[in-house]
Amino acid sequence: MTGQHCWGYGEDDGPSEWYRYFPIAQGTRQSPINIVSSQAVFNSSLKPLVVSYDQCTSISMSNNGHSVMVEFDDNDDKAVIGGGPLNDSYRLKQFHFHWGSQHDKGSEHTVDGRSYPCELHLVHWNAKSYPTFGEAATASDGLVVIGVFLESGGKHPALDRLTDALYMVRFRGTTAQFNNFNPKCLLPASLEYWTYPGSLTTPPLNESVTWIVLKEPIKVSEKQMERFRKTLLFNGEEEEERIHMGNNFRPPQPLNGRKVQASFKC
Ligand SMILES: [Zn+2]
Repeated sequence: MTGQHCWGYGEDDGPSEWYRYFPIAQGTRQSPINIVSSQAVFNSSLKPLVVSYDQCTSISMSNNGHSVMVEFDDNDDKAVIGGGPLNDSYRLKQFHFHWGSQHDKGSEHTVDGRSYPCELHLVHWNAKSYPTFGEAATASDGLVVIGVFLESGGKHPALDRLTDALYMVRFRGTTAQFNNFNPKCLLPASLEYWTYPGSLTTPPLNESVTWIVLKEPIKVSEKQMERFRKTLLFNGEEEEERIHMGNNFRPPQPLNGRKVQASFKC
């Protein structure tokens, strides 16, 4: 590691080393987890998830050296989620992806031990209880992340606008304008979900996330996944070494007695 908060997905700075700088990595409420579908408890009082993204306005796309992220105007309740296990509505802040360098792995959550090639995270914060995203990110009920699995299949028409823009943020630390993208198009037809209390899956690994992991994956083509793997780099433009971004996922963490609830019966 070169800096105090330098972390990544390499041999020397990857997930197994994060605890050195972020001791909460060994906490009791860490994410992701392996979801054992037969042990998830159906809870009939869980409400359907309500996604209200109609007025949603994306602003930018950026490469933060760990993933590619699309950010939203979150100054008011333009894009919120509610219902499900939530008592409040939560505002959309950003979404990003985790993926493998090959198609046999890449997702952070696994289901019955199975990995998907990619996982989308839509990050929301509790603007009813906290004045800023930063404050929400340190509170136990501050964040809600919706996880969506991507699996290999036919081409996903709506994803092309995003993959076509990736070249603009090839290098770490670059940001490009990226307007009017509504991530509603990246949700599957069914919003059935598993939910459990967890954490950010990247440093600082705060235990502030209510996870909502959708059961139904969306299908994307292998060609579309290759755009992620081949376009984006972990490096800045000034660096000579070029490492393709990929395998930017944390492996499953211990459940520590947490219960995973399901909105549906197996
Ligand atoms: Zn993530």
